[in-house]
Parts: sequence; C-alpha cells; structure tokens
Amino acid sequence: MTPHPPQPLGPVVLVGGGLAAGTCAVTLRELGYDGEVVLLAAEPHLPYERPPLSKGYLLGDAELDSVYVRSGAWYDEHHVDVRVGSPATAVDLDAHTVSTAEGPVRYARLLLATGAAPRRLAMADDSGAPVRYLRDIEDSRRIKAELRPGARVVVVGGGWIGLEVAAAARAAGCEVVVLEALEQPLVRVLGDRLGRMFADLHREHGVDVRTGVSVTSFAPEGEGTAVGLGDGSSLTADLVLVGIGATPGTGLAAAAGLKVEDGIVVDEYLRTSHPDVLAAGDVASAYHPRLGRHLRVEHWDNAIEQGRAAARTLLGDEQPYEHQPYFFTDQYDLGMEYVGNVGPDGFGELVVRGDLASRVFTAFWVKADRVLAGMQANDWDATDAIRRLVAADHVDLARLRDAGVPLDEVAG
Ligand code: FAD
Repeated sequence: MTPHPPQPLGPVVLVGGGLAAGTCAVTLRELGYDGEVVLLAAEPHLPYERPPLSKGYLLGDAELDSVYVRSGAWYDEHHVDVRVGSPATAVDLDAHTVSTAEGPVRYARLLLATGAAPRRLAMADDSGAPVRYLRDIEDSRRIKAELRPGARVVVVGGGWIGLEVAAAARAAGCEVVVLEALEQPLVRVLGDRLGRMFADLHREHGVDVRTGVSVTSFAPEGEGTAVGLGDGSSLTADLVLVGIGATPGTGLAAAAGLKVEDGIVVDEYLRTSHPDVLAAGDVASAYHPRLGRHLRVEHWDNAIEQGRAAARTLLGDEQPYEHQPYFFTDQYDLGMEYVGNVGPDGFGELVVRGDLASRVFTAFWVKADRVLAGMQANDWDATDAIRRLVAADHVDLARLRDAGVPLDEVAG
C-alpha cells in the first residue's frame, strides 16, 4: 500500500464495532496516521467478520477465534482505543462530540459504520414463540446449540442467510423446511432460473423448499413453535429462523440531522452531508460513479473496501470509491462468487455458460452490450475474467454466448 503523509487531524472516532470500522482503524495505522483513534462498539466484542456465523462456525468447521479483524493485542500495540459495549447514543455535529454512557467523546473526524440489523417480523416477535434471527455471535452460538439431529427447523425467508442456515441444519441432521413468499428463493437477486437452481440444490439435500407460501401466524407450542401457513396448514418447529433481510442502522445519523434515505447518504468519497462525518459499510448509501447512482451494499467485501476508502478520505487522500460490488456464498458443495449489480431497471438477458445441473458454470446478467453482473459457481478461476467483463464498457455478446470461446478471450 502506498504510504500517505498522515494529516494532523485531531481525534478520529469510529462508531460501530464491525468489519468496516475495524478495517478503517487498521488502515489508518497502515497509512501511517499516528494520531488518536477511538472505536466505539455497541457489542461486547472486538470488530469481527460475520460470514462464518452462518457457515464455518455454524457447521462446526471454524472456531470463533478466526472471526476477529485483529486481536486485542494488535489494538493495544497500535494505540487504538477500542471501547466494546460502549454504544454511541448521539452525535452533536456542531460541537463535534459523540455521546456515550461514559461521557462525550470529541472528534475532529467521525466515521459512522453502524451496520445493519435483521428486519423483524412483528407477527413472530409478538407471538411469544421462541423465534431466532441471525446477526451476531450470540445469535449464532444459540442457533448452533439448537441444531441437533432430528430437530425440526423452519426457515422463514429463502435469502442468503436463510439458505446457509438451512444447509448447516441439514449437515447437523435436522429436518428443514424453507418457506419463501416469492416464486423462487433469491429471485430478486438472481432471477427465476438461478433461484430455481438454489431451490433444487436444497431439495437434493433433503430440504423441503416451499415457494409462493405465506406465513400467517406463530404460536408457542410446547418448547417450540407452531407456524401457520396461508393454505390453512401448520408446521411444528423446534427452531424457527426468520431471515427476511436487514435494515440499516441509520438512527444515530438521522437524529443528528445527517441526510438519510435507504442508508446514510454519502458521496463517492464516503462523506455524509456533513464534511467531517463519513459513513461506510452496510449502513452507507454511497454514490457509485460508474453506476451513476447511490448504492447500499450489504456484503463483507464492501465493508472491507469502504473501511479502507474511509481511512484514505479521513487522511485527506480522497479517491472515488468505484469498487465493484462482490459477494460470495458457500452452501453444501456449491461455492459461488458474484460481481456487479443489476440495479433497479433490471437486465435484458441471462447468459449461462456451462451446466446448471452439474453446478459448474458462469452466468451473466446482460443489458444491451454491457454485463451488469456475473457469477461463477465452482469455477474459481473465472472470477478475474468476470470482473473484467463487468468493468468493460462494451462486450461482444456473440462471443460471450458461445461457450466454446474461453471466458478469458471474451474478457480480453
Ligand atoms: P456490521 O457488521 O453490522 O457492524 C456494525 C456494528 O456497529 C455492529 O457490531 C453494531 O452493533 C455496531 N453499532 C451499531 N450502532 C452502534 C452505535 N450506536 N454505537 C456503537 N456501535 C454500534 N457478506 C458476504 O459478502 N458474504 C457472506 O457470505 C456473508 N455472510 C453473512 C452471514 C451473516 C450471518 C451475516 C449477518 C452477514 C453476512 N454477510 C455476508 C454480510 C456481511 O457480514 C456484512 O456486509 C458486514 O458485516 C458489514 O459490516 P459493517 O461493519 O458495515 O456492519
């Protein structure tokens, strides 16, 4: 990384104990900034990564030690003042202070990286039934303990987290039902054909995937939950997981008077409507120069890259954030990576190279002569070419459609 002369800023305060805030702290030090850095984390943990919470850790393949961005010793050695269990309760933009239960913290520059929280299902919360959500270490620990052989698991919502938990539950020997309101799981992100492929993948592994289903009630039943469905039937579950998306943690920013729409609105340098305050990660709706619109991305890679970009802006080295959105998932023996963003206007054509049934393929969401997004499933060498295709201003579609032309040659 190129060293930048650190700016004499005064204290930098990072609010949020997740990947974006943790990465920003690390990058500030890597770039040579040796001024005061305070990181306020609501959770009782050092900044950590969440993907293992629905995969490796839940499956028993990974320990929690592996999820932390840096060890406690690293923050001590680098004089980063991490205050865990210390949420910011208010921001005073004029006074340049953040309130906490222990008193105000003064900042010269502030990063808000407050992340997102699971969207709640009021009907489930109000029922008194033991319904689970998955966002943090405690949620994952609890769910892991409940994934016992023979346990009946009902997953409400066929999104990424719901499907990953379904896979982990099958691996633990549970009986699993996935309830999805739309015609296929993941249909909003991947479209009908690839959504169906994920449904088939789970069915092959013994999951009862039900699509076009409405959930009408939850009620405590013994130690578990009765889940009522729109067709009048009901399911009995030992564990109900609700995975219906996430909402950005914008409360602090909105109360301070910062511009908030779907997330905290920031420019391509991650600056909010106040020049001394930045936002990054799941909570930030950032202007993306290449896409020509604001985009809020709830992905691991985005939290890292925006954490780094925020550090650069904080030090006065402003470079537009133009990174392509990137996402990965692992379910059973299917690993996939997805690059790009289809956007609100949709795509014209889905080009698939390879064989969906064998689960080794690449897929491209195309509009006119542009590739808006691409993914690979179990074809790990394809990712660089996919990135080049998504970055290209023009793609030869005839060659892309011809699986006989190697992807590297299409990408140029
Ligand atoms: P967060 O990780 O949400 O961190 C924000 C932190 O800020 C939280 O700890 C919160 O408690 C804290 N906070 C909130 N308000 C305050 C306050 N007022 N004061 C102080 N602290 C506050 N992405 C992928 O690309 N691939 C995956 O496979 C994948 N798997 C995932 C699995 C799970 C179970 C989950 C939950 C997410 C997954 N993600 C995945 C998404 C990825 O984890 C997020 O995009 C990433 O965590 C975002 O980082 P962040 O720092 O912006 O927010």
